[in-house]
Amino acid sequence: VKGYLQQIEANARLNVFNEVFEQSALAKAADVDARIQNGTVGRLAGMVIGIKDNICYKGHKVSASSKILEDFTSVYSATIVERLLAEDAIIIGRCNCDEFAMGAANETSYFGPVKNYADETRVSGGSSGGSAVAVQANMCHAAIGTDTGGSVRQPASFCGLVGLKPTYGRISRNGIISYASSFDQVGTLTKSVYDAALLLEIMAGADDFDGTLSQKAVPAYAAEIAAPGKKKIAYLQEAISSPGVDPEVKNALITSIEKLRAEGHTVKPVSFELLDYLVPSYYILATAEASSNLARYDGVHYGYRSPNATDLTSTYKLSRSEGFGKEVKRRIMLGTFVLSAGYYDAYYAKAQKVRRLIRQKTNELLAEYDFILTPTAPEPAFELGKTEKDPVVTYLYDIFTVQASLAGLPAISVPAGNNSKGLPLGLQFLTRAFSEQELLNFSEYFL
Ligand code: GLN
Repeated sequence: VKGYLQQIEANARLNVFNEVFEQSALAKAADVDARIQNGTVGRLAGMVIGIKDNICYKGHKVSASSKILEDFTSVYSATIVERLLAEDAIIIGRCNCDEFAMGAANETSYFGPVKNYADETRVSGGSSGGSAVAVQANMCHAAIGTDTGGSVRQPASFCGLVGLKPTYGRISRNGIISYASSFDQVGTLTKSVYDAALLLEIMAGADDFDGTLSQKAVPAYAAEIAAPGKKKIAYLQEAISSPGVDPEVKNALITSIEKLRAEGHTVKPVSFELLDYLVPSYYILATAEASSNLARYDGVHYGYRSPNATDLTSTYKLSRSEGFGKEVKRRIMLGTFVLSAGYYDAYYAKAQKVRRLIRQKTNELLAEYDFILTPTAPEPAFELGKTEKDPVVTYLYDIFTVQASLAGLPAISVPAGNNSKGLPLGLQFLTRAFSEQELLNFSEYFL
């Protein structure tokens, strides 16, 4: 713990942690240390973990990197936090992220952007950028993030890590600050597949506090990692034909396809007919859900209250105007618009139907193939400040990650070397619901 604390301090300029839990981390370490002698420690004894600042940890602050929750303290712990602590993980701090997890570059945080350790002029990816760089820069052993439309996988690819988003319903969302509830999933940022498997195994499984969870038994993912055998893989041919994908990202994909073929796997190009609808349907549905979820920040119940308010209406208006950042406001307005009486059918209801088709077509593909292979992101980490310019361009960067989110399927980003500038690249494998074991097996083999 002391070593990691030093590393955090030495690299404070990267802006990774919103808060370091020095006291509670050292106390937990001492407690684990004392119990090591008599062999009563859990399976994560000594594992030092960073958690994204949208995960509640009793008695500690949690802000979602927003001014509106800047001084809010959790009154209970997320189910996953309880499970990690019960296995003796040591939580070292809360990691910077995009405000309310809205973003793909960690540039919407009230606390400023997180810098990439591979090149400090570039973004970390988002929204779990702090969680990613915390692991990339050796500030902890592993980190927990959340992935609504790619927020674990995309920063993992920008930082050269393994980023796993499990099936929707695999890990409890109790105690996770909601962004878009029908998409939000907890995920892991790790250096190895084994760590991802172990953390998943500990966090997954039924929980009375989350009614959307599956009751399926949780496999011993880590112990059961095994050779995958010969697989059938579909790769998205638009990832190679589209001018929007960086040439070195394409090369990484092509090299992997050739390698997999040479090793005896069946790898075929496919075209996803609903490709153009992925990003629009995701942003209609995610913003709609966000506008509803964020209605609770009203300056009355908890969080920031404007000192300039004079009555109830101005309390709502000023607290929200002053408390939320620009991107969050944009999304609340978009979401409110698509849910409004006049436009509900044209946008929200239609996007729901498109989502069903996307799920159906993706599952049809996965009936034939074991995995769908794509780059995780169309480009490697871009320069800081770029996402300021045009939000729609930024939204389009999510093209490869939102399919798994819309379909509720598990997907993983695995490192695929560096480009000529030394920036990490990542590839994504997407698979059938609750086939995390197959995904982990194949990723371990692939690496
Ligand atoms: N970039 C996507 C968004 O802004 C995904 C974010 C996330 O997964 N939390 O919505």
